[in-house]
Amino acid sequence: MKGETIQTVSTLTCPQCGKAATETMPTDACQYFYDCTHCGALLKPLTGDCCVFCSYGDVPCPPIQEARATGQSASCGGGACSG
Ligand SMILES: [Zn+2]
Repeated sequence: MKGETIQTVSTLTCPQCGKAATETMPTDACQYFYDCTHCGALLKPLTGDCCVFCSYGDVPCPPIQEARATGQSASCGGGACSG
C-alpha cells in the first residue's frame, strides 16, 4: 500500500448545457472527444489540456494524476495524444 489513489471515474460537466455525467476514464489512453449525453454537444479539450477529463471533469485523467503524485510535469504518458 503506497497510498497512491488513481481515480478512474470522473464527472464531466458540459459547458453547453451545464449538466454533469459520470464517466469511466481509460487508464492507458486519453479521451479527446466526448459527446454530452444530455445535449449532444461534442466536447474537446481546452487549450493546454490533454483530454476532456482534464478540461471538464472533476478528476483529471490517470496520467495527469500520476504526474502530479510524483511531482513530474503533467503530460500524457501513453503517447495516444502526443499532438
Ligand atoms: Zn451538454
